[in-house]
Amino acid sequence: MGFALHEAKTLAEATMLARDLGPDAMFIAGGTDLIIQINRRVNTPRDVIDLSRIAGLSGISHAGGVFRIGALTKHKTVETYPAFGFGTPYAGLREAARVVGGHQIRNQGTVGGNLANASPAADLIPPLLALDAELDLVGPSGTRTLPLNAFFLGPRRSVRAHDEIITEVRFRDLPPLSAIAFLKAGRRKAMEISIISVAARLTLEADGRCRDARIALGAAAPTPIRAREAEALLEGGVPDEGVVAMSARAALTSVSPIDDVRASSEYRRLLVAALVPRALKICIDRIKSARS
Ligand SMILES: Cc1cc2nc3c(=O)[nH]c(=O)nc-3n(C[C@H](O)[C@H](O)[C@H](O)COP(=O)(O)OP(=O)(O)OC[C@H]3O[C@@H](n4cnc5c(N)ncnc54)[C@H](O)[C@@H]3O)c2cc1C
Repeated sequence: MGFALHEAKTLAEATMLARDLGPDAMFIAGGTDLIIQINRRVNTPRDVIDLSRIAGLSGISHAGGVFRIGALTKHKTVETYPAFGFGTPYAGLREAARVVGGHQIRNQGTVGGNLANASPAADLIPPLLALDAELDLVGPSGTRTLPLNAFFLGPRRSVRAHDEIITEVRFRDLPPLSAIAFLKAGRRKAMEISIISVAARLTLEADGRCRDARIALGAAAPTPIRAREAEALLEGGVPDEGVVAMSARAALTSVSPIDDVRASSEYRRLLVAALVPRALKICIDRIKSARS
């Protein structure tokens, strides 16, 4: 691993270093993706800029109806954050964070690294897409804000310039009668990246009709995606069994899964068809039990 390590103390220092060192420099946060990629020579940076000592980029806060998750926040912090606990509308975030690798990975890997790595199978991305999250990118010439769904371009490719740092991802409070659920299929129960993952989010009206639906899928296409046709079928009607089944079939029109050593494309499609209705049903049950 022949690279020079630079420890940045401030965001400005890190972005200027990245600008001056050029595209052969890469940031590192927890290192759980990057070090493996360097070992496998998937990435061969000449310089690595450590972000982990920059103050103010870690932790979750809630104020003014907005949740903010700093880029250096560990998966373990998301997993254990009380407002994302079971019995809250945000339990789907905990469900995603708690299946990222094992305890060591969750204590080391960061939310910002999960997003910046831009893997189609990254577990935090589908629930954040389902929450309409946006993120901040800070570069040498300033800050820009993007909806998360405009960030990804392809496997490990995003709109982030090499000298831009993700500083936080945030989303607004869900309206009443809302819930989010996350389901992941992997080859084993732990320490395995997703073969398919599904995050569903529903907001219902008092009369049971669906006001808002989100279905986000991981490992189902070159980037994490929203199944927009499936969402549209749910909105405006009562999400009974028939509508949920129709929505799951519609979700299949959004996917283009790969064949690889983990699973065939056909198996991945079967998983989408099975997990979408299950995730929607969990949302409906959660909303009902929060009401009663
Ligand atoms: C054994 C094992 C199991 C795993 N299991 C899972 C799993 O189940 N689910 C899952 O989703 N992932 C899994 N991962 C992948 C990894 O742990 C996560 O993606 C993690 O969130 C990466 O965060 P990190 O801080 O370690 O990123 P790093 O490795 O430090 O960085 C990853 C990439 O993001 C860039 N980067 C990091 N932070 C920033 C930032 N703030 N701004 C801009 N660029 C940045 C780096 O330059 C690099 O390109 C696993 C990894 C291992 C080794």
